[in-house]
Amino acid sequence: ASYGELETEQVRQDLTAIAVRQGTRPRPGRRQEGGSRAASGGLADGHPRYNANNVSHIQENPSSEAESAVRQDRRERRFAQRQALWAITSLDRVRKCGRTTNGNVGDGLAAIVVNGSVAHWSGFCTCGSIWACPVCSAKIRATRADEIARAVAAHMTRDGGTAWMVTLTARHKRHHDLAPLFDAVANGWRKLMSGRAWAGDPKRGVLGERDRLGVRGNIRSMEVTYGTRNGWHPHLHVVLLLSNETGEELAYAIHRWDKTWRAWMKKQGFEPSKEHGVKWSKVTTPEEAGEYIAKTQEGKHIGNEIARGDFKNGKFGTLAPFELLEYFRQTGDMAILPVWQEYEQGTHRRRAITWSRGLRAELLGDEPELSDEEVAAEEVGGETWALLPAESLRAIRRVPGLQTRLLDAAENGGFVELVNLLTAYHLTYQAGPDAPKTEASPAAS
Ligand SMILES: [Zn+2]
Repeated sequence: ASYGELETEQVRQDLTAIAVRQGTRPRPGRRQEGGSRAASGGLADGHPRYNANNVSHIQENPSSEAESAVRQDRRERRFAQRQALWAITSLDRVRKCGRTTNGNVGDGLAAIVVNGSVAHWSGFCTCGSIWACPVCSAKIRATRADEIARAVAAHMTRDGGTAWMVTLTARHKRHHDLAPLFDAVANGWRKLMSGRAWAGDPKRGVLGERDRLGVRGNIRSMEVTYGTRNGWHPHLHVVLLLSNETGEELAYAIHRWDKTWRAWMKKQGFEPSKEHGVKWSKVTTPEEAGEYIAKTQEGKHIGNEIARGDFKNGKFGTLAPFELLEYFRQTGDMAILPVWQEYEQGTHRRRAITWSRGLRAELLGDEPELSDEEVAAEEVGGETWALLPAESLRAIRRVPGLQTRLLDAAENGGFVELVNLLTAYHLTYQAGPDAPKTEASPAAS
């Protein structure tokens, strides 16, 4: 075969590296944070259960008090970050998310609705931004992780294929604007997926990498982090689905991708380095692939001991987008503003998660594909316990954390506890049509 000037030694090293990585699940703890519904769907017994069209109830109905507490903590953090975001966002929809009523439960009203052991707000606008909004993003990403896990399960379990997680990244030397960085990464991907090495030369009967490996398609996501020293750091996470994998062909592909990617990035002014390039690891479970693509960009938690000024004085290394928000929420440091707004503008209307053409239908059949906005706006419904007028909603907004504490109260202490909290804050409300009948439930207060 005419594979060009590949060095046998390099190929051998690549294969050894893969063998070492196989079976290791990279950074499992962090991915878990994303709350993939599929992850709780349980492959623990080795038996995939991905044929259910909707497994959302697994996440919506936590099975233990501990799970419930973890979920409440996450919700509290996300809501608090969104509340901080209202003050600094450059996007109109985001400023209205969870704040402006949409009229669905009555003019100017929002409702507390309870479904099983989970309470939620109904009647607010949602922004549907997977990039900028901590609340919508978590919901969208959980849904996407679930879809991807089920698709990869169909590919691996039903069709006997293999899958790889490929990370493409580049280190840059100086501060670049975000938008051109995105383009460099996206175009680098296009470069990999084209040309003779990839597509072969059909006229001469030469098969390309795509045919030799039986590449079925890919699902990929663009991610971005912010380094206090080097600025924006976008990277691409790809799940590559193969149906005809051999060690040799794979080694050639790994070598070619690395070479092509580095050459491209160098041309764009990036610094090629061994740790910043192309990384491959084999997918061992479908939900791992889902989380790899759709995990939240919350990052590790930056903790409570941060101080105003830490951002400028370089206390942090690399921050995930919502860590920028968390820093702002805790310190109110407006130094974050230009960085955050560049992030919003640079990502706005960009696709975060992309499936290669035809792949979704091939793996998930005619399951309808909801847009990010539709996923974010989707409500599970339930019993309407309380309706709150505009003046109460305004008062709630003025007390940090109260929006989620009301939900916590309903979940932990039922209707009585909810009413107690509303009363403690002198909040006018109307008992909803499904409010449980108790002595503590006046028709209005
Ligand atoms: Zn939102």
